[in-house]
Amino acid sequence: MDSRIVGILGGGQLGRMLVEAAHRLNLQTVILDAPKSPAKQINALHAHIDGSFSDPKAILKLAKECDVLTVEIEHVDTRVLEELEAASTVEVHPSWKTIRTIQDKYVQKSHLASSGVATAESLSVESNTSAHLEDIGRRFGYPYMLKSRTLGYDGRGNYVVAGPESISDALEALKDRPLYAEKWASFSKELAVMVVRRMDGMCISYPAVETVHEENVCKLVYAPARVSGAIQEKARKLAEKAVGSLWGAGVFGAEIFLLENGELLINEIAPRPHNSGHYTIEACPTSQYEAHLRAILDLPLHAHSTSLATPSTHAIMLNLLGPSYDTVAYKALEVKGATTHLYGKREAKRGRKMGHKLSIRFNRLLMQQTQTR
Ligand code: ATP
Ligand code: MG
Ligand code: MG
Repeated sequence: MDSRIVGILGGGQLGRMLVEAAHRLNLQTVILDAPKSPAKQINALHAHIDGSFSDPKAILKLAKECDVLTVEIEHVDTRVLEELEAASTVEVHPSWKTIRTIQDKYVQKSHLASSGVATAESLSVESNTSAHLEDIGRRFGYPYMLKSRTLGYDGRGNYVVAGPESISDALEALKDRPLYAEKWASFSKELAVMVVRRMDGMCISYPAVETVHEENVCKLVYAPARVSGAIQEKARKLAEKAVGSLWGAGVFGAEIFLLENGELLINEIAPRPHNSGHYTIEACPTSQYEAHLRAILDLPLHAHSTSLATPSTHAIMLNLLGPSYDTVAYKALEVKGATTHLYGKREAKRGRKMGHKLSIRFNRLLMQQTQTR
């Protein structure tokens, strides 16, 4: 199919599902992450690299083993990716420029705003002091969201500033991190759209889905989202515009707030496959993982590859989190139309994503809800 070797920075569940997709097309992958990480467990074709995706030396070692570098996590060292891209020793997709822009959420928000993409209004926090956060409260009103500019995930790095009285707790929680503040987005639903950005910058999107979070972790995904056709279209267009403003090829996850007045705002962009796109493995002709590989290798991708398999296909994805994951996974084996994915992680800490269950439904009631909302 293509003899170029793909090096993946990160070997978690997203990397594992990239490897699964690669195997089906005889594409070769090499993983950089800790020994026995989920993606490495299922690929014995190569000796993988043990080390951290934030360590430039380890990334250089990986680069020697492959032709195209990509990521399954955004918290990687981008300086070395910039050097590698400039030296043209390997291709880097998406571009280091995209990853660096996304890594700092305030820079990401400013970039999107200057590209004409609607986002929640943001202010950089110049000093981590109560006086400054009170100033922001006077400007934004309460509640507002205080966020770490870097290294956030699963809501770790976010703090809801409910009123002036919670500023000291917010500072206690986040004081050592670079911060910015976001105006509160009073959303009725959270949506997400996976966008494939081709080598020529052309974008193709999957249907908008609905994500439901519990304790800041995505718990459920409904595909397609239970919204009107107009909102569905608007969400896809917004996501394509946001991803179109970035650089390089690959799939991107656009997280979107649907406000009560029907307005849509981008929350954040992930420069990689995304939790909200797991459903594409069973529900679409081409999964987000295969689409990512085809995009970074410039392989053909039909425009309909990202549609749902049939107009009546509906999918519900449930993340299997924490210690109870195995019991739920076992039960899912008995469910009609359900597929179970486990990630090979050893320690089932509270809230940790250990696997997911996907149910395909052809349920008329669910379809009616989708069409009328
Ligand atoms: P992820 O695991 O998706 O990478 P994260 O740690 O980067 O998450 P965000 O996506 O910034 O965090 O926020 C997590 C959740 O917090 C959002 O999905 C949303 O539910 C809520 N949230 C974030 N920003 C706002 C906002 N401005 N107003 C209201 N709620 C918000
Ligand atoms: Mg995030
Ligand atoms: Mg998020």
